[in-house]
Amino acid sequence: MHILIAGAGIGGLTAALCALHFGHSVTVLERAEALREVGAGIQLPPNAMRVFRALGLEAEIARNAFAPDAIEARMGETGRTLFTIPLSDAAQQRWGAPYLHIHRADYIAALRDALKARAPGCLRLGAELTDYRSTQDGVDVVLESGESLSADILVGADGIRSVVRERMLGPDAPVFTGNIAWRAVVPIHALGDHAPRPTACAWMGRGRHAVTYRLRRGTLANFVGIVERTDWTKESWSEPGDTAEARADFADWHPTITTLLNAVPEGALYRWALYDRAPLSRWTDGPVALLGDAAHPMLPFLAQGAAMAVEDAWVLARELAYPGRAPSDSLRAYQSVRLPRTAAAQAGSRANMGTFHQRTLLGRAKTYGPMWLAGRLAPTLVHRRMDWLYGHDVTQGRV
Ligand SMILES: Cc1cc2nc3c(=O)[nH]c(=O)nc-3n(C[C@H](O)[C@H](O)[C@H](O)COP(=O)(O)OP(=O)(O)OC[C@H]3O[C@@H](n4cnc5c(N)ncnc54)[C@H](O)[C@@H]3O)c2cc1C
Repeated sequence: MHILIAGAGIGGLTAALCALHFGHSVTVLERAEALREVGAGIQLPPNAMRVFRALGLEAEIARNAFAPDAIEARMGETGRTLFTIPLSDAAQQRWGAPYLHIHRADYIAALRDALKARAPGCLRLGAELTDYRSTQDGVDVVLESGESLSADILVGADGIRSVVRERMLGPDAPVFTGNIAWRAVVPIHALGDHAPRPTACAWMGRGRHAVTYRLRRGTLANFVGIVERTDWTKESWSEPGDTAEARADFADWHPTITTLLNAVPEGALYRWALYDRAPLSRWTDGPVALLGDAAHPMLPFLAQGAAMAVEDAWVLARELAYPGRAPSDSLRAYQSVRLPRTAAAQAGSRANMGTFHQRTLLGRAKTYGPMWLAGRLAPTLVHRRMDWLYGHDVTQGRV
């Protein structure tokens, strides 16, 4: 079976690797002239690592990554720890794979290199899909250049503003959440004693929160700061931000945060307006399916958007390898496996927005008090709350 994949982000590249693993052939169409990722980190949880282990890529992915000691939550101003989930050997055993932090450029490079080694020439850069049409034998695709291509299956892994989704379902209706995200990466050596701990840490505050973690074998610190603001609404990975504004948003916070923001060089801060989208009711149209952000864009408050794309990739390729079934039925099977789980992750991310931004004293006591207690009295309870996400193993399903 030949599969065309539109988009060479984390979702599209992993979909190509999974397709090869299950014996399909692939062509990946990427509109960019070169594969570049933004200068930012990403959390790579165990549920996604299991897919890379099954693909034989765990070592390549882990090579430049960082393995945190724990996931923790702290108060933004005082630094008081609310809870810690140790990422000890026991946690790794519980969830079956490590929890890693990785620079997006390293992640993309590892996937691209693996794809080039396994299927040289299958990645086409500067190839922008503009339309598709189902045919009797599969699907025809039109590129911006006017070229057309045919395949058995088309996968739209073309991100949050997916053309494939728009052709399939019409324009979407994103809702601005009233939050923006500041993003920056800073060398650890520039932070002295105030370098973030070697954990994945969420810092809670009034109407804002921050996330810090380390990247690239511990040499870089990654910062994401989410602030409730309505004065700016552009959804873009490459929009530069004003460091003075970001510093003002987190003034009076713990020195870990203020030191980090003070160390961000001018021109190295980015901002992204956060939009929410309701789960779609369907992701397939005959021989065409959506994957990753094209199918289920989610707010970043569970750090699972790319991980869900990785899970999708495995399930899609596996379902298409199901013997004796029409490809369109396999795509519907893929959708029915994936839609409930990704909708739950979308809902969980949305719910965390409220949890992280408690404004009143009462709200804080009611939300953070039980977290603090559970973290001290029953840490395994905190682990258990994450089992549905991190313990999920898509590679264990049938072919
Ligand atoms: C602030 C922030 C923090 C986040 N943190 C995390 C985290 O810690 N962990 C996590 O798992 N997720 C996280 N996410 C989510 C994650 O970044 C996304 O879910 C993930 O990058 C989606 O991957 P994708 O491959 O589906 O789409 P994309 O990465 O958007 O890739 C789409 C690709 O398609 C290409 N393309 C677009 N249109 C066309 C076309 N017409 N033809 C050909 N090519 C096309 C694009 O150039 C691009 O290369 C975060 C998101 C944000 C905003």
